[in-house]
Amino acid sequence: MSVQLYDTLSRSVQPLATESGQPLRFYCCGPTVYGPAHIGNFRTFLIQDTLRRVLEVDGTQVKHVRNITDLDDKTIRQSMAEGMSLSDFTAKWTEKFHADCEALNMLAPSIEPSAVAHIPQQIALVEKLVEKGHAYATDDGSVYFRVGSFDDYGRLSKLRQRELKTQNENSAGEVNDADEYDRESVTDFALWKSRKPEDGDNFWSSPWGEGRPGWHLECSAMVDSAFNGETIELHGGGIDLCFPHHENEIAQSECAHGHDFCKHWFHSAHLMVEGAKMSKSLGNLYTLDDLREKGISPMVVRYTLISGSYRQQLNFTFDGLHASKSALTRLERFVEALLAKTGEDKDTFNTTYITANAPNDFGRLAKAWDALRTNLNTAACLGAIFGLIGSNPAATLDAEDARALLRAFGCLLYALGLQLFTTQESAVDAPEAIVALAQQRWDAKQAKNWGKADELRDAVLAKGWVIKDKKDGFDLEQK
Ligand code: AMP
Ligand code: ZN
Repeated sequence: MSVQLYDTLSRSVQPLATESGQPLRFYCCGPTVYGPAHIGNFRTFLIQDTLRRVLEVDGTQVKHVRNITDLDDKTIRQSMAEGMSLSDFTAKWTEKFHADCEALNMLAPSIEPSAVAHIPQQIALVEKLVEKGHAYATDDGSVYFRVGSFDDYGRLSKLRQRELKTQNENSAGEVNDADEYDRESVTDFALWKSRKPEDGDNFWSSPWGEGRPGWHLECSAMVDSAFNGETIELHGGGIDLCFPHHENEIAQSECAHGHDFCKHWFHSAHLMVEGAKMSKSLGNLYTLDDLREKGISPMVVRYTLISGSYRQQLNFTFDGLHASKSALTRLERFVEALLAKTGEDKDTFNTTYITANAPNDFGRLAKAWDALRTNLNTAACLGAIFGLIGSNPAATLDAEDARALLRAFGCLLYALGLQLFTTQESAVDAPEAIVALAQQRWDAKQAKNWGKADELRDAVLAKGWVIKDKKDGFDLEQK
């Protein structure tokens, strides 16, 4: 059985097939580099990274391409606001993105193309679309895709033509401010945007005059470059990209090339905060650094973001982070018990057992591995692992069996991208409710209400937190 994955296009779980002998062609829409990525973005990137790892463990070679979006309204606006050139500005945030990816133990993509580095390819694609009658130039020197020329438009998102809204604002929050009356139809979207004063120095020459590409075009052009214009097997992104971005990618690429753009569409659900999508525009975001400042290690963040079903929204809470920290500690105790049987140390575990080379048999972890191969069911995988841990297998194993279990477990950790024995130094912030209780206790103590202060100290302790008094306040530590 190969790896199975839900496909948005067919609305069903399908095997991820490759052409024989070819690596699986996997393209992911990458970050817009105008600030640090938030952990909502990282939920999507981590899920993609985990799928790639599962494919590798399953024996499938993957060509993983994830682009850098360094040219859109947001990168231009912000670089100009900070008085930096677009390239210096985006280089700074690309570097930060790489550092965060590394901290989260993400594999580097095979290729990481950027939009600015693909301007000629984007222009060539627009020319092809104009030539074939799928695009038209307007008087102001912009070029639009003629949605009415592509019967299949809407097939991914299942939006009927009459329901397609004007794309004055797309899901990236990018405003298409070209004069609407120039467009033949409100559903037509910009492939090339004529030069505007607010773009500053960020314009390029084209057959239609100076300007810059529209945002949707970059992915079609970069997929072409990276995969020689061939149909790709897999395309990933957050669910917000399904429409219009991915729909537009399909339209551009299929009209230009006359063959399928992509076979399998992989969308992940959002990270939410109190019912709303975590996003920069809502200001409800956390970055990896924000959480580090609160003593939460990147590995705890990785565990949290990949542990739920990728097709379900995940609600961000500090309680969730605390639970992940405890779960990682339980995994560490499990490994320590097995290492005590084999006589090996933690370094040996990390260097020899964490590998993409799958054992012939996952043994008592077979269910956990099957869960990963069946639509990336990380929750069921972790459930099976903790089920086994609960039965305390180390107690009855000899060294050889312990070694076999470590091999299977190390391979699962590789697939999940989890590193153990790296998180101990990170103290975790107490949940707000605990801090509030501890504050009430501090206030009672200041008021010399000793009975109430003791009661509140016990209440905090009962919830797993110890109050450590300081001269002018208190710290909270996990019991
Ligand atoms: P951006 O940097 O805005 O281009 O987004 C990068 C990736 O993050 C895209 O695949 C988005 O769909 C995804 N994304 C944005 N917000 C969230 C969120 N709250 N949860 C999960 N993925 C998200
Ligand atoms: Zn894209």
